[in-house]
Amino acid sequence: MADCIFCRIVAGQIPCAKLYEDEYVLGFLDINPINPGHSLVLPKRHYAVLTEVPDRELEACIGAAKRVARAVSRSVGSAGLNLLQNNGRAAGQLIEHVHFHLIPRDPGDGFLTSWPGKPYPSGQMEAVLEKIKAAL
Ligand code: AMP
Ligand code: ZN
Repeated sequence: MADCIFCRIVAGQIPCAKLYEDEYVLGFLDINPINPGHSLVLPKRHYAVLTEVPDRELEACIGAAKRVARAVSRSVGSAGLNLLQNNGRAAGQLIEHVHFHLIPRDPGDGFLTSWPGKPYPSGQMEAVLEKIKAAL
């Protein structure tokens, strides 16, 4: 995709701070990190969202994400790490080339400090469960 910034990084047309590369996957430092070491792992081929990625390439991404996560955590000495993957504008996706964020975390860094979960209204959980199971 000529107008995709991550495709242009994969093609070497835009520089990146490369961390990892194999046949299917590229990993590099996020240019605007939540914390130092915040990295991105993505398939080299262009897919917009998670559900479009063929299993072989997704497996390669997850394997690479595991390896990069371990290296990031060890090297920056973070207390924790979030694996985050946004799909669609509503979910905060700005670059429409699927990617995994590896975000090293420390207490008090101010990111994702609360999780505003709320219980289902009566009966809704069972209805949602049945709909999802039927769609699998
Ligand atoms: P998302 O909101 O999940 O689409 O996240 C896109 C991420 O890509 C953001 O965290 C940006 O800081 C990062 N980003 C954008 N352009 C570049 C670039 N040229 N090199 C590295 N990271 C980038
Ligand atoms: Zn792309």
